[in-house]
Amino acid sequence: MTAPHVVVVGGGVAGAAVAYFAVQGGAQVTVVDAGQHAASGVPSALINPVRGQSGRVDPQGLEGLRLTWALVGRLREAGVDIPHGQSGVLRPVPDGHTRGKFERNLPVDLPHAWLAPGDFPTPLGPGWPHALWLPEGGWLDGAAFTVGLLNVARAEVVRARATKWDAHSVTLEGGEVLHGDAVVWCGGAVGAGWTGMTQTVRAGTLLTLNRAVTQVAVSFGAYLAPAARGSVLGATFEAPTPGWREPALPLSSLCWLLGKADALTDLSGAQVAGRWSGTRLSGLQVGRAEWGGWQLSGLGSKGFLLGPLLGRHVAGDVLRTCGEARSV
Ligand SMILES: Cc1cc2nc3c(=O)[nH]c(=O)nc-3n(C[C@H](O)[C@H](O)[C@H](O)COP(=O)(O)OP(=O)(O)OC[C@H]3O[C@@H](n4cnc5c(N)ncnc54)[C@H](O)[C@@H]3O)c2cc1C
Repeated sequence: MTAPHVVVVGGGVAGAAVAYFAVQGGAQVTVVDAGQHAASGVPSALINPVRGQSGRVDPQGLEGLRLTWALVGRLREAGVDIPHGQSGVLRPVPDGHTRGKFERNLPVDLPHAWLAPGDFPTPLGPGWPHALWLPEGGWLDGAAFTVGLLNVARAEVVRARATKWDAHSVTLEGGEVLHGDAVVWCGGAVGAGWTGMTQTVRAGTLLTLNRAVTQVAVSFGAYLAPAARGSVLGATFEAPTPGWREPALPLSSLCWLLGKADALTDLSGAQVAGRWSGTRLSGLQVGRAEWGGWQLSGLGSKGFLLGPLLGRHVAGDVLRTCGEARSV
């Protein structure tokens, strides 16, 4: 029997993960990717299961984190080194009330410890009486990880914009039509905008710094994380908008970001080397889509925490359905 052919629209971390696991499952995969405005190009993404300022953890967060690190290991075995640090995430909290909130929400199976200032693994500014230490967290280079998955999968990548798709075909700009046993939509924020979807998106900007200012990733309000070169300070997040637009960097956002970072640690001596802007899409959509194909989108700020895990679920469901369709 010939391998099922899966066509994936979008080559960010969502599409790359679906492609990787579909190939692992025996499919022939074509990824159609415009290569524009991918949020997955983030130079240093936190692998942080405890998001926000409430201590809440996604029920799949720990499994997602472990799969992402396992994939970094598999890519290394395949000869692709991803800049990363599986070196923990430090989440300082400003007071006992916030710590209490975190403690109420942290699941018992999540490895963590509460540290006092003398035990912090990297020096922080004054005013942080406690910090939550997440030893399994860390950071990775989003672009390198995404491209690494696609390369190791050896999926065929067609650099083009898809203008139309249905359950079994994708039409490219210029009119060429690709046919497949299944089509998976992974177009992210920009793709949702191009299609006229009005899901909420948020543009955000990171500053890249010429040197590391903390030894490990640190996050409360803003985040500081090592990167392949120097480090990053992220992220300004602009007001949510219904639909994608070119990210901007208002000076007020920059002042806010620098203020948050200054409270976290001493930035003196580091220089801004550049900026990176992207847009994230909220409203997770995983699985069968109304138009008959499949989708993985709306990963919000958890693209690298959950994208690979959900990509594996979607690829599995797609291949099972293709197998059932062929056996009737
Ligand atoms: C500033 C910022 C900081 C972030 N920090 C973190 C972090 O610390 N940790 C974390 O886990 N996540 C983080 N995220 C979120 C993460 O980057 C996203 O959740 C994730 O990258 C989304 O991946 P995706 O594959 O769904 O979409 P994308 O990466 O946006 O990829 C979509 C791809 O599809 C292509 N495409 C769209 N439509 C079409 C079409 N019609 N035809 C062909 N191609 C198409 C696009 O050109 C693009 O290449 C951050 C995001 C931002 C913006």
